[in-house]
Amino acid sequence: MTKDTEPANIDDLISDFSRFYILTILYEGPAHGYSIISQFKKRVKKEISPSLVYPFLQKLEEKGLVTHTEKPVGEKEKKIFELTAEGRELCTGLFKRFATLVAIAIEPSLYVCAHCGCKVYEGGYREVIDDKETAFCCMHCARSYKEVKKLAKQAK
Ligand SMILES: [Zn+2]
Repeated sequence: MTKDTEPANIDDLISDFSRFYILTILYEGPAHGYSIISQFKKRVKKEISPSLVYPFLQKLEEKGLVTHTEKPVGEKEKKIFELTAEGRELCTGLFKRFATLVAIAIEPSLYVCAHCGCKVYEGGYREVIDDKETAFCCMHCARSYKEVKKLAKQAK
């Protein structure tokens, strides 16, 4: 968690996962503070403190990224928060950047099975064939690959 100083820019403001996730909830549609907290808990399986949620919403509002309307619920007034057009734009940019980061993070471990062509994210099976390390999704694909190769050689 970051210190409580005034954030220098939007990157500092959204410097942790919880805040980022609050934005994804708002991106789906208007929500009041309590529903942000309960949605967060349901999806992330982790508690989020109202003392993080409300000041963050307030900061977003000060920056013109979020707006709120008050709706009477019983005796009380409830604030419904909503992203402004500018806020949505910011989110789209953030999500794109995040997607790129994720892609970079998983790319090195991603390979394609030499036999069936399926994408393998982790595990899989490797075997040295003709002095070359070849990657497969499973042993069976490796065996089929070798058989096909042998048949191809015989056909020559
Ligand atoms: Zn395969």
